[in-house]
Amino acid sequence: MDDAPRSLKCPGCGAPLRDDGVSASITCSYCNTRFFISGERAKREHDRLTAQIAAAKKAWDIRITQAQLPALVDWVRALFLGGVGAIAVMLIVVVLLAVTQLGSDDTIGIAMGASFWISFLLLAMHVFKRDARKRKTAAVALTIERDEALRPLREKLAELDQQGNAGVLAG
Ligand SMILES: [Zn+2]
Repeated sequence: MDDAPRSLKCPGCGAPLRDDGVSASITCSYCNTRFFISGERAKREHDRLTAQIAAAKKAWDIRITQAQLPALVDWVRALFLGGVGAIAVMLIVVVLLAVTQLGSDDTIGIAMGASFWISFLLLAMHVFKRDARKRKTAAVALTIERDEALRPLREKLAELDQQGNAGVLAG
């Protein structure tokens, strides 16, 4: 329940303060000094800010978690680039074997299979790890962005908690 609006006087300059009965702080329109209302009102404002910060942080943290998860496009890219690279490696191996005239048809087949799959695994892993590093960097940037976005609310809360305990004006 909100307090009824009361007539208060500015402790600084004695001018009347307009109290809406709800706000946790009042700024004197004459001397511009800001006063905090202690008691229930400060507690309500504290709880409201705490809940607002928690909800905003939760939304940001979901975004940050998602930014780190590989999407389908990341898997496709790793497999595609791994495949293209592996075909190139395999062709080089085939050409080298043909030019040097080493190996029979059987060993050429084994060499082709082995060169394809080994280079496919190594290249796909390399691309996937590189993308994971990029996602990690993006998540770190989002964390900084989150803290910047939450800063005004956190400062407001810290200000309220400090001043509220001082109890400048009784609530
Ligand atoms: Zn004043």
